[in-house]
Amino acid sequence: MSFSCKNYDYNDDKCLMLKQECIPGRPGCVLEGRIALSEALTERIKALEQEKNSSKTNKK
Ligand code: SF4
Repeated sequence: MSFSCKNYDYNDDKCLMLKQECIPGRPGCVLEGRIALSEALTERIKALEQEKNSSKTNKK
């Protein structure tokens, strides 16, 4: 990781604030809307949203 975030847990490679995987710029992240996302990060966030949507659809 080439940046430093006070919420990043280096031991666990996770976000302490969101208690999930650190994906800079993801919804809820302190950087959301404040940084230009690389293509790779945009893809990870899209995949995350799709995962969330499919888990919502599967819950009945
Ligand atoms: S997801 Fe955002 S707030 Fe959380 S550790 Fe990563 S950069 Fe920091």
